[in-house]
Amino acid sequence: MLHFVYSLINFAILALILWLFARKMIARIFTGRKDRIDRALDEAERIESEEFTLPTLPETFREDLPAPVEAEIREIRETAAEHARHMLQQTEETIEDLRREMLLDVKSRYIDRLVEKAQTLMTTDTWLAAFRAREEEFTDRILEHTRLTPGDMAYLKRHDVLYVTLTSAYPMPQSIVDRIGAHAQKLLDEVGGKPSYWVRVDPELIAGFRFRIGDTVYDFTLADRLYQLRSHLESRDLQGNEDAAELLDGMFEDIRGMHMSLSQFQLGRVISISDGICWLDGLADIMYGEVIEFECGEQGMVLDIEPDRIGCIVYGRYEHIESGSRVRRVGRIASVPVGDDLLGRIVDPLGQALDGKGRIWTSEHRPIEHKAPAIPDRAAVSRPLHTGIKAIDALVPIGRGQRELIIGDRQTGKTSIALDAIINQKGTGTICIYVAIGQKDTTIADIRDKLTRYGAMSYTTIVCAPASVSASIQYIAPFAGAAMAEYFMYQGRDVLIVYDDLSKHAVAYRELSLLLHRPSGREAYPGDVFYLHARLLERAAQLSPENGGGSITALPIIETQAGDISAYIPTNVISITDGQIFLDADLFNEGQRPAVNVGLSVSRVGSAAQTKLMKQVSGRLRMDLAQYRELAGFTQFGSDIDASTRKVLDAGKRMMAALHQSRYAPLPDWEQVLLLFAVSEGYAAGVDPSAMDSYAMHLTGSMEIRYPALTALLRSGDKLSDKDKDALREAIAACGTGSEVA
Ligand code: ATP
Ligand code: MG
Repeated sequence: MLHFVYSLINFAILALILWLFARKMIARIFTGRKDRIDRALDEAERIESEEFTLPTLPETFREDLPAPVEAEIREIRETAAEHARHMLQQTEETIEDLRREMLLDVKSRYIDRLVEKAQTLMTTDTWLAAFRAREEEFTDRILEHTRLTPGDMAYLKRHDVLYVTLTSAYPMPQSIVDRIGAHAQKLLDEVGGKPSYWVRVDPELIAGFRFRIGDTVYDFTLADRLYQLRSHLESRDLQGNEDAAELLDGMFEDIRGMHMSLSQFQLGRVISISDGICWLDGLADIMYGEVIEFECGEQGMVLDIEPDRIGCIVYGRYEHIESGSRVRRVGRIASVPVGDDLLGRIVDPLGQALDGKGRIWTSEHRPIEHKAPAIPDRAAVSRPLHTGIKAIDALVPIGRGQRELIIGDRQTGKTSIALDAIINQKGTGTICIYVAIGQKDTTIADIRDKLTRYGAMSYTTIVCAPASVSASIQYIAPFAGAAMAEYFMYQGRDVLIVYDDLSKHAVAYRELSLLLHRPSGREAYPGDVFYLHARLLERAAQLSPENGGGSITALPIIETQAGDISAYIPTNVISITDGQIFLDADLFNEGQRPAVNVGLSVSRVGSAAQTKLMKQVSGRLRMDLAQYRELAGFTQFGSDIDASTRKVLDAGKRMMAALHQSRYAPLPDWEQVLLLFAVSEGYAAGVDPSAMDSYAMHLTGSMEIRYPALTALLRSGDKLSDKDKDALREAIAACGTGSEVA
């Protein structure tokens, strides 16, 4: 009996020990680090909302403002009226844009003045006394909210000691200093660390105090309130219909309603900065892709997280960022403005207008890195995206939602194909986004001119990261373009996005990676360059009808060296995409434009999206052309060619001539079908290959006039029955070649 009781007690003790140890372990395993960070962020938000009532600013605040403010408002009103009078012949829109531009100017000029004014009003004795009277209350709040973050724990593991600082605008009572010190000691004791406690006085804080433990700052200072006020005023969106006085009224209201609350944020420190790459100390909890703000107001984005430092890229100018200066975690992921307002505009990868047509009025943003749609959210590619180029629509058809690579040496017409595809989207409701990476400014200007001339700019956005900008900006460009495209796709619209070109993007990424000291792999590219392009192109999709049915079709462009498609970046992108259009430098030099190499070009999913008619007509084309190229290679130097070979060669030559197409001349689908049918059936046998263009014009012209029923049948894109085929043959024969008419 005793034995039994003993074993029972033993068992109970064992169970207790197991429970005590295992509980912690299980908790550690299951509570993800991200959860903890999320909780910390929630906490920060909660703290922010707990208000303290402090003396409000006097009602006479507005009257207290220096006289020039009111005078300047008047002046701006008058100038606006003046402009309006002068520009009566201009459009309403121009005047409206100008008015808004001036409003923004007013806004930025007055924010400085208002914040300065608020500061003088708040440094009065009443406010300072109110702060001092609440010191105990603030201390209670801070002690209640202080936590160690996962980042602090990681730091403690390596260094044993955590920096704890109490900075105040004026010397604090010893009792509070001691209380805070004792609390930090207690917190760190629990996890087996030591605090290194520093107490400082910094008059720049104006009033109040801030407590910093590890990276996290709990702030109760007037300086922070003014910073918050400034960012709040700056982020105020214009409604578009207010005038200067209304805008200022709103801003006054904001200042009057300002309240005191505890703000919690994280601070880091710049270790070093060079070539647009900045290394930071602290901010251990920061996530990849988060935005950070430097003391000088410049922003950057986290790109590298190492155990004891963070690597970031700086968006703008980095010359005036000094090592040792503070960096603030903003708490959001890098994003770009998106929306209909971007159409017809040229923007940089951060969404700022570059075309001098004024600001872009959109309040919507999307993160530049976003999860690609999951497989259940997608539908199969089934709708065609016509490029209007015969060699492509017939041989390597592209479907909406497909990723089709355009690959070739330099100057082989890659960009031209993409531009033709954009121009051909006119009137189809498809939105186009052209992302120019690492190109010359003049090339981009030329592209803009061409798109404008062919009426394609109204539905196109050009995202421009020319060779002259930093590698960081070039790196962001395609992701920014993808974010802008996603906005439309999730609205159920169709988008065509061109990345011109991803080889230069890979080079920019290689430069960044080398500066970030990442180990380099094949051809000195970092190992994750495949992942970089895969996650970019994965965002192209055809969404299922339940998700709105929108689509993004991506046309990435890759430049090869001497036709080498087995180099690292080309093979990567070939394996990511659903096919490639290979442009051959030899063909190009022979005069074949577009120089599509039929043998090496494929479209893995596009044929499902081809019209039945086009499929029927172009079915044998590929084989025939491949056979022709082979024979042509063989017989190049041979003189005695037998009749049947000669026939194949002639037919091939004529077909190649039929596929010839000049730039900016996209053809409707039915015209392509008609020409290909006529040529493949041998009706163009008497046409000189160089006269193929005029034959095509003659044929479509006569068909439209003489056989409207057949033309309508061709336009419908339905499969031809044998009877229809015969009728078509007859019609084509009756139309003749055009030359005999002359
Ligand atoms: P890069 O490597 O410089 O980016 P690319 O491969 O994009 O060049 P494009 O700029 O499109 O090539 O075209 C190169 C040249 O070929 C241009 O001068 C253009 O006029 C000519 N070209 C391209 N396509 C055609 C065409 N279909 N008909 C006539 N000329 C063409
Ligand atoms: Mg090009």
